[in-house]
Amino acid sequence: MKSEVVILSCESYEEELVYSTLKKGIALLGGWETFLKKEEKILLKPNLVRKTEVERAVITHPAVVKGIVRLLKEEGYVHLSCGDSCGVGSAKKVMEGTGMDQMLEDYGVTIVDFNEGSTVSYPQGHTAKEFFLAKPVQETDALINLCKMKTHALERVTGGVKNLYGCISGLHKAKGHTQYTNADIFARQLIDLNQLIAPRFCVMDGIVAMDGNGPTSGDPVKMNVLLLGNDPVAIDSVYCHLVHLDPQMVPTNVHGETMGLGTWREENIRLLSEDGEITMQEAVERFGNPDFNVDRKKQRSNLWNRFNNGFLRYFQKKPYIVTDKCKKCGVCVEACPVEGKALQFKNGRKQPPVYNYHKCIRCFCCQEMCPHKAIQVK
Ligand code: SF4
Ligand code: SF4
Repeated sequence: MKSEVVILSCESYEEELVYSTLKKGIALLGGWETFLKKEEKILLKPNLVRKTEVERAVITHPAVVKGIVRLLKEEGYVHLSCGDSCGVGSAKKVMEGTGMDQMLEDYGVTIVDFNEGSTVSYPQGHTAKEFFLAKPVQETDALINLCKMKTHALERVTGGVKNLYGCISGLHKAKGHTQYTNADIFARQLIDLNQLIAPRFCVMDGIVAMDGNGPTSGDPVKMNVLLLGNDPVAIDSVYCHLVHLDPQMVPTNVHGETMGLGTWREENIRLLSEDGEITMQEAVERFGNPDFNVDRKKQRSNLWNRFNNGFLRYFQKKPYIVTDKCKKCGVCVEACPVEGKALQFKNGRKQPPVYNYHKCIRCFCCQEMCPHKAIQVK
């Protein structure tokens, strides 16, 4: 059976427009009852990685969260909560100033904190056999994944599959990077995580996406699109097509298919728009952006990697600090999950931190967490 992905044009975050577009999309997929039962506890999981201005396209836009809340409430879903394990601060703190917190309160949606959690065993995992899951994730009946269309230094893109990494509680996310130390293995544990949580539905906010130095320091790009469905791999694959990136270059797509989470293959995806079924080519013609700044470089083969193990590090992508942008705040040093830190201040804070690339595992947590767009990857 094919995975269905709804692709709809939405040219702004005007609330009524977002609401009516989401309404159309959910109707095209058979309505909420296809995915959720009325009495179930439902947790909304937007991307709330860090507190920023909404216009920077770092977080899922409040209008998208509001549209989904409104539609669920109208259909009689009452047990709603919303949260994320943010890189810095609590979900409530990240929402402050965006209007999201007030909106959720007005609709009677509980804002939940992901800081508390416990280890959940997952013996059937291919790569990860346990996860430290946030308490609200464990306590919910159903999760709705409200992801953002962005680039990512480690996995090239972040969308439906990657957004669930925020279900891991607080500092345990950083620890995960030291356990799963390359894009491939990290992607495999993300697929295990998705299979454990089994989100019921996914919405990708691609109205204004982020390209370049994502997922927090890139540039907002208008893509004018909302993607909906229940296969996060298929949604991520459609996103790849729209930005002219071969879906096979994204490890979460490849492992998502081989490990049985979903499909990235065009022939196995049924694309639905308001005019009925459309082909991928038609979708790309309508919504595609060949200038979207995403890493399209091919990786070297595993065989090449094996023969050039030490030498290879010289060619690997690495983070570096743009000195005149650095405010010496130290967030990057705190974010580094490596024991003894792979970047540190030398002689106090007179100069930006300095990398020790021999220690660095290229997780790019420092680049993700820098609040001043001072870390780039090359
Ligand atoms: S987080 Fe960014 S601004 Fe702060 S010290 Fe690190 S590089 Fe500099
Ligand atoms: S220096 Fe940055 S990329 Fe390297 S291990 Fe630390 S956080 Fe990860």
